[in-house]
Amino acid sequence: MMLKIMPLEEKIMKNIKKSMSIFLAIVMTFSILTLTVNATTLDIAEKDEECSHNYNSVVTAPTCTKYGYTSFICSSCNDTYYKDIVPATGHNYESTVVAPTCTEQGYTKYTCACGDTYIDEYVDATGHRPLISAYVNTIPATCIKKGSYDIVTYCIDCNTEINRVTERTPATGHNYINGKCENCGVEDVYYYNGTFRIETPSRTEIRHRDGIKLHAKIDGNAPSGSYIMWTADNNNFNTTKLNNGKTLKIVSEKRGTTVFTATLYSNEGKVLDTDTIEMNSKAGFFQKIGSFFRSLFNNTVIYEN
Ligand SMILES: [Zn+2]
Ligand SMILES: [Zn+2]
Ligand SMILES: [Zn+2]
Ligand SMILES: [Zn+2]
Repeated sequence: MMLKIMPLEEKIMKNIKKSMSIFLAIVMTFSILTLTVNATTLDIAEKDEECSHNYNSVVTAPTCTKYGYTSFICSSCNDTYYKDIVPATGHNYESTVVAPTCTEQGYTKYTCACGDTYIDEYVDATGHRPLISAYVNTIPATCIKKGSYDIVTYCIDCNTEINRVTERTPATGHNYINGKCENCGVEDVYYYNGTFRIETPSRTEIRHRDGIKLHAKIDGNAPSGSYIMWTADNNNFNTTKLNNGKTLKIVSEKRGTTVFTATLYSNEGKVLDTDTIEMNSKAGFFQKIGSFFRSLFNNTVIYEN
């Protein structure tokens, strides 16, 4: 921040220094001329009486900002005068260019051998060049957990991290083979390798008011919590669930064919297997008369299978 403020001040200071140098040089020159005149006047006045003067000369070289001169000092009476005034040399700057970086200004620094320095010709910072992207912090997804990785953008010049975005990868899901996940070993709650069917009944034609029990049978493995549901495509039969749903008692009521479907569901309600059977309800006019008389003698039949 300082660097940004300095240029103008530096320039002003530089100008002030220059002006001051010239001003001082003029003032000093006048002073010395006055001193010289005074000394000369005094010399004339007191020369003969007091000192014959034996002057030693001392040369003072000019500097960047101060004039040079030769001092003449009398070794006997210290009477002094100055001659051979030489102007200040002025600064002789050497320049050093400092290149800008992504975040810092560049500039040229001017340095004189006397130690005086100033800075000029500021150049804006170049800014980052976000060109390199890398994929890091990769956390692989598991069967049930998301994975992630970071996309990191760096500056090609200074390698500063400029941007980082975390991307998620979806969970892979289990890959069940024979009821077990080959990746994590978890058991498949839907695993079912049995056979599910409606046992073939002893008859498919049922007289009016007679009935039969349809049995759904699971052979082999069925996951725990699985259950059976029955449906019919019409209401020709009156139905009653028995034996925890494994058996459906059907009783002929109206004439017609009915398709019964037994479905095996997993504990979570997923269909594991299904089977159908077609049953015929013999409930025509004459069958109904027959069943009426059979019922009088308590002679209707529910077949076990
Ligand atoms: Zn003297
Ligand atoms: Zn200098
Ligand atoms: Zn950079
Ligand atoms: Zn798994």
